[in-house]
Amino acid sequence: MAATILDGKAFAGGVRARVRDQVARLRADHGVVPGLAVVLVGEDPASTVYVRNKGVQTVEAGMQSFTHRLEASVAQADLLALIGDLNRDPMVHGILVQLPLPAHIDADLVLNAIDPRKDVDGFHISNVGRLATGQKAMVPCTPLGCLMLLRAHLGDLSGQNAVVIGRSNIVGKPMAQLLLRDNCTVTLAHSRSRDLAAIVRRAEIVVAAVGRPEMIQGDWIAPGATVIDVGINRVLRDGKQVLVGDCDFAGCAAVAGAITPVPGGVGPMTIACLLANTLTAACRIHGLPEPAGLTA
Ligand code: NAD
Repeated sequence: MAATILDGKAFAGGVRARVRDQVARLRADHGVVPGLAVVLVGEDPASTVYVRNKGVQTVEAGMQSFTHRLEASVAQADLLALIGDLNRDPMVHGILVQLPLPAHIDADLVLNAIDPRKDVDGFHISNVGRLATGQKAMVPCTPLGCLMLLRAHLGDLSGQNAVVIGRSNIVGKPMAQLLLRDNCTVTLAHSRSRDLAAIVRRAEIVVAAVGRPEMIQGDWIAPGATVIDVGINRVLRDGKQVLVGDCDFAGCAAVAGAITPVPGGVGPMTIACLLANTLTAACRIHGLPEPAGLTA
């Protein structure tokens, strides 16, 4: 049985179109234009590309985009002062500090300085706590994108056995919380888990967020399972750099019921969810109803 390919690129296009429509309505009916501020410290090439893409897609969605580029040597106090300005700026509804930050900067301190209502990455400790306790939160973009794909493919997730591999604060932990909130039975596996293959074999939903190229093998996957591959790994193949996920795509696709490809699966959903979160933040800040289907 060949797996259904979950086309994240097409799905993300649909999310962006819905955001664009809602932004146009917000502007026409209430005079509100959502604004997203992205702060980039240093010149990491991958981060620079991400930030440029975010800016382009923000403008395409009809929102305002503000990019702040700071030297890698910026003093922590100056970065905190900028965050304070953005917190107070009524044109800004979302603030994203591109990670990683240079070693001399305390990333937790900076992330927790963001107004939680404008925390479109969902990394502020109060949003983490809100998500964990089932309260309305800003939800991290990548897990939100995975959840949207799962709900679109499977419908109600209640009672499903879900295994999340990877326990990072950015992907694995919030993903596990979201699946728990959708009534899955959740196992959160990590680098110290014993017999990972046996754990994964029990799963009806597998979310891989490890950062190890093609680690998850086809014979770990239960027949018919839904596999969400978050991994983005650059490897050399025949002298060329290619992107692969954390799953051996061909092997897993031969057994799974559905699977996301890399590239073109979870990746495009992340920026689409950033736009959705910025729209949600603008609605909440202005006390307006939130658009349906764009939050967790
Ligand atoms: P991370 O390095 O912070 O966390 C990796 C996790 O994997 C850790 O919790 C660790 O315990 C676990 N792990 C490591 N080796 C393992 C092993 N052998 N067995 C089981 N678990 C193991 O990474 P991250 O930030 O969560 O990212 C994970 C992957 O997802 C990376 O490839 C990253 O590039 C990708 N990513 C993609 C997107 C996207 O938009 N698609 C967004 C964020 C991250």
